Amino acid sequence: MKNIYLDNNATTRVAEEVVEEMLPYFSNLYGNASSMHSFGGNIRHKIDYARQQAAQLLNCGPEELIFTSGGTESDNTAIRSVLELNPNKRHIVTTRVEHPAVRTMARHFQRRGYRLTELPVDAYGRIDLDQLEAAISNDTALVTIMHANNETGVIFPVDKIAPLVKSKGVLFHTDAVQAVGKMPYNLADIPVDLLSLSGHKLHGPKGIGILYVRRGTPLSPLIMGGHQEFSRRAGTENTPGIVGLGKACELAQKNMEEENGRVRQMRDWLETHLLRVCPDARVNGDRESRLPNTTNISFEYVEGEAILLLLDQLGIAASSGSACTSGSLEPSHVLRAMGVPFTAVHGSIRFSLSRYNTIDEIEYVIRETPGVIKRLRQISMFSSPPDAGAPRERKPRLDRISG
Ligand code: PLP
Repeated sequence: MKNIYLDNNATTRVAEEVVEEMLPYFSNLYGNASSMHSFGGNIRHKIDYARQQAAQLLNCGPEELIFTSGGTESDNTAIRSVLELNPNKRHIVTTRVEHPAVRTMARHFQRRGYRLTELPVDAYGRIDLDQLEAAISNDTALVTIMHANNETGVIFPVDKIAPLVKSKGVLFHTDAVQAVGKMPYNLADIPVDLLSLSGHKLHGPKGIGILYVRRGTPLSPLIMGGHQEFSRRAGTENTPGIVGLGKACELAQKNMEEENGRVRQMRDWLETHLLRVCPDARVNGDRESRLPNTTNISFEYVEGEAILLLLDQLGIAASSGSACTSGSLEPSHVLRAMGVPFTAVHGSIRFSLSRYNTIDEIEYVIRETPGVIKRLRQISMFSSPPDAGAPRERKPRLDRISG
């Protein structure tokens, strides 16, 4: 049985080097970094080292980084902190395609009386910078716009957005959870105030992330208690996670250029073939400005869930929409915001690759997927109502699907 993992925007395999680095911190190196004795001192040094490894990847100061429990906590902290520290400003600007970690938090404040602008995107998933500029007012406390979209891979031009927002004197946060590790970063050059990243998206462990807070930007902690993380995030440090994330950052920096080139080639190969062989298939999102590992393809007139099921039986793991929303049959808010037709939203599949994929795996996916789509479309024809005048309901009959 094949075991081909193409769901790397949901989570990634932890690199072996990362696991190796972490293991001692589960056994003999178990000290608490806050302790005065050498058990603690060794841990403190290692945490400092991990912070430096992450700072090198982002080109920022280590003291600008706070370890958190992941992307969600970083996003939540950033938004809540800015609003709490600027109580006289009651307006938030974001986009319609943000991850729920941002979207839900922004809507939470909207329910508490804040004005919320969710900028629209065009058919390619792009925002209009003029609209962004027009949306910012004297009352705007925060602009929070993701760097790369988890569902489509579309990259927003944060290098242009950040200076624009700063020129209006407004704080800017970016959810860079999908971008860090897949594209080079230089925070010395981009005036981002706050940035979120997550370990498990770059071959690090789950349950660990970072919030970057630019020097001089005040922060109100979300989690209060002890003095860890410069009194900005309380709680005994997750040492194995921090050590693992540090190593993952180091590896990402080392491998990025070479591996992303190879990953992009495999992604393009997969995409080109599937579009050529499968009729009524289309790529969702801006193909020019996109993460190198992601393709989101709509296969019209079939259900994404049915495709996933059959691909899974062939040993291929992909995703229909965001992992965080799968499990519900709600159509993707990202694709809906892009105006993707209903039939295409429901048949959308996200393939997200990593440096661990091989060309042989991609060849196998290219060979098997068209057959899956064809078969589902044939089944779907049977489920159409016999009334020729009625619009065709092309839902696949899941009860007919077997190995
Ligand atoms: N932001 C984006 C864009 C994501 O893709 C994810 C995870 O899917 C998150 C935030 C949440 O990160 P975490 O799973 O580390 O909480």
